[in-house]
Amino acid sequence: MSNDTSLSVYWHPRTFDHAPPDGAFKLPSMPFLASDEPHPDQPERAKNIKRIIESTFGDAVFTTADPAPEDAIERVHDSEYVSWLKKFAEDGGGYIDGTTTAMSDATFEAAQHATGAALAATDDALAADSQTVPYALARPSGHHAQSDRADGFCFLNHAAIAAQHALDTDPAVDRVAIVDWDVHHGNGTQEIFEDRDDVLFLSIHNDHGAWDPTYHPQTGGLEEVGVGDGEGYTVNAPVPPGTGDEGYERVFDRLVEPIVSEYDPDLLVYSAGQDPGPSDPLGRNLISRDGFRMLGSRAAELASTVTDGHYLILQEGGYQISHLAFATLGVLEGATGETHDLPEYGEGDPYAWLDENTEPLVDALEEIREAHGEYWPV
Ligand SMILES: [Zn+2]
Repeated sequence: MSNDTSLSVYWHPRTFDHAPPDGAFKLPSMPFLASDEPHPDQPERAKNIKRIIESTFGDAVFTTADPAPEDAIERVHDSEYVSWLKKFAEDGGGYIDGTTTAMSDATFEAAQHATGAALAATDDALAADSQTVPYALARPSGHHAQSDRADGFCFLNHAAIAAQHALDTDPAVDRVAIVDWDVHHGNGTQEIFEDRDDVLFLSIHNDHGAWDPTYHPQTGGLEEVGVGDGEGYTVNAPVPPGTGDEGYERVFDRLVEPIVSEYDPDLLVYSAGQDPGPSDPLGRNLISRDGFRMLGSRAAELASTVTDGHYLILQEGGYQISHLAFATLGVLEGATGETHDLPEYGEGDPYAWLDENTEPLVDALEEIREAHGEYWPV
């Protein structure tokens, strides 16, 4: 174990109170199933991450985050939508419009604290003398939330609000890059910035397409490159199911590094969803703790080269509650340069039981590079 960089964790206990109802997997109870189960977005996700950090990083500093101010939220989200969300929670919550996204009475406040954690991590990332890795332990997640609609278990788009906050409050920030490795397309972040060139959005995700034409029209496909002034500044990398450590490293080498370096942002926001892990009930990919360590390490290296180290790691998805903790530990190990021995599990990943076949990724990556070659040196 080395001790290169310490870790700053921004969180709030109120984020654990968001409680989507039990049901038939993501939806309400179904007559053809005898038993309900917890909704995939359980508080145990965040509790396990917090505990594994406390158990490993002896010098991690935990800071409880204030709720994000509504004016910061409304620079990204429509004010009518924000009022509606707040009222829906006050009225007790429930599933939103037949979607899989559900609220409880605590959800709005939880989301506001999660955004607050992202803002505090952003301020830390931008501080000239920061020697820490700022990590926002956000729950509920944010990257599917669009400017005027909740989606994919997300209500407020923390990454977008953080990027906008940096642009609005720090005169040294003219450009922000958001790199999103959650296994699902960051459609909300894309929708918010697709017509702008001051925020580059790069998403690596499974090739899952749109899951609803009405409330989730974005596909995450290669043809979605941004519009108007934003043309070229949306970069989608849909990767085949089964992509693992080696495949993601190739994507980082051949796509993320050259594009982000060319864009030359002043701040890097990593939308870090650890649901490309091998046992995730909502994912299909195979990144192990070691692969997540690689992502964390490459994320920090890229920031050190391009943004003078100004970056933050922002929690997005991840739904197998034990693996999410191992995987997030991997990301933070990579970013800080520390590796931790866990009792019984050592430095490894107990879920890494499938071999990766890189062939589908090699072909897909060629297509991805070709599609973005019009705009970037890839
Ligand atoms: Zn996800």
